Amino acid sequence: GQTYRICLIEGDGIGHEVVPAARRVLEATGLKFEFTEAEAGWETFEKYGTSVPEETVEKIRAADATLFGAATSPTRKVEGFFGAIRYLRKRLDLFANVRPAKYHPVPGAIQGTDLVVVRENTEGLYVEQERRYARGRIAIADRVITYDASYRIAEYALKLAQRRRGKLALVHKANVLPLSDGLFLEAAYDAAKHYPDVEISEVIVDACAMRLVRRPQDFDVLVMENLFGDIISDLTAGLVGGLGIAPSGNIGEEAAIFEPVHGSAPDIAGKGIANPTATILSAAMMLEHLGEKEAAERIERAVDRVLAEGPRTPDLGGDATTEAFTDAVIRALG
Ligand code: NAD
Ligand code: MN
Repeated sequence: GQTYRICLIEGDGIGHEVVPAARRVLEATGLKFEFTEAEAGWETFEKYGTSVPEETVEKIRAADATLFGAATSPTRKVEGFFGAIRYLRKRLDLFANVRPAKYHPVPGAIQGTDLVVVRENTEGLYVEQERRYARGRIAIADRVITYDASYRIAEYALKLAQRRRGKLALVHKANVLPLSDGLFLEAAYDAAKHYPDVEISEVIVDACAMRLVRRPQDFDVLVMENLFGDIISDLTAGLVGGLGIAPSGNIGEEAAIFEPVHGSAPDIAGKGIANPTATILSAAMMLEHLGEKEAAERIERAVDRVLAEGPRTPDLGGDATTEAFTDAVIRALG
């Protein structure tokens, strides 16, 4: 078979623990990989004065896909610092933020949930254009919706729905924002004309939040603008057991970065007890993106078996280390 070039970026905190764990699982699949390592995040900023060195951008571009751990952002304002992932999304035009929420046997997860939130990743409120008027008593933030970005994200979601159960929910607030969210819908319906086999529904975002909590099993793929996607995808991560579990992808034409939804967890970093599940599932997502669906499914089944039978990491009520959990996943891979 083919050799996949994978860029690994540990980042900060537990990134140093969960990325090596996921690498071991990738290596145990029997597929061929050529790994390169790159740096990004807070530690990188302290070392080089930038959180994303140019070399890192080049390595991501040269790779078939990138696996990212987590990056710390200081809570105080630091001159010259910018968030690594947010920068890479912009720089590499990673327009689709893809967040599956699928049932795995962990406490609190809702059985039968198997959906994907596709979030537009380049515009909306994240153009970060804010102003104050009236001696600071009025603030305005621009929310940008373009036909082209809406069409592009809808097309991504339609293709994904086609490979899954063929259902796509367009999530919006066009009842209040007919010009902007109306444009999002218009573009999505134009894209949908080319995918007649996908069943389209419209859901207003607030009602969507409620329906997701009550019956997540009704949903397959959901597509929405940036802020709605930010919020709804945290909600859906919560439906399946939260941070230790949730994987994600940032996907563009020229690069793709997969990462756990969680952050660098400074409170447990260095203790060897971080749950690597979200990163291992992100690696599985990466394999699926590369066309290795079978290997991706094998990893998921192995993870599920270990989550069900143990050993589990402390965040899921167990006492296993990152390494012991990973060893068990590798054994379950067979
Ligand atoms: P966090 O996700 O790092 O941690 C929240 C809580 O969940 C902590 O108690 C942590 O111990 C626990 N947790 C998270 N991941 C875990 C795992 N894999 N195994 C076991 N426990 C886990 O969020 P936070 O504390 O709000 O942020 C910490 C840092 O991470 C901040 O600097 C923040 O800016 C950054 N962050 C980065 C990303 C990213 O890189 N995409 C995302 C969120 C937060
Ligand atoms: Mn978020």
